[in-house]
Amino acid sequence: MPKQETKASVRIYYEISGDKIKLKNKKCPRCGSVMGHHLKPTERWACGKCGYTEFAGKKGK
Ligand SMILES: [Zn+2]
Repeated sequence: MPKQETKASVRIYYEISGDKIKLKNKKCPRCGSVMGHHLKPTERWACGKCGYTEFAGKKGK
């Protein structure tokens, strides 16, 4: 069985069922609502309900 390196941080957001890959949205840790994914100006997850924002990817600069 070949071992594939997968980025854990990315893997969390996808669910593979059969041959389909579906994006699994994060849930807001503050209010539990589904968070929106935004790529601009920087990749982040934002909750439309309470305004909680979590930045994805790089730490710092
Ligand atoms: Zn929220």
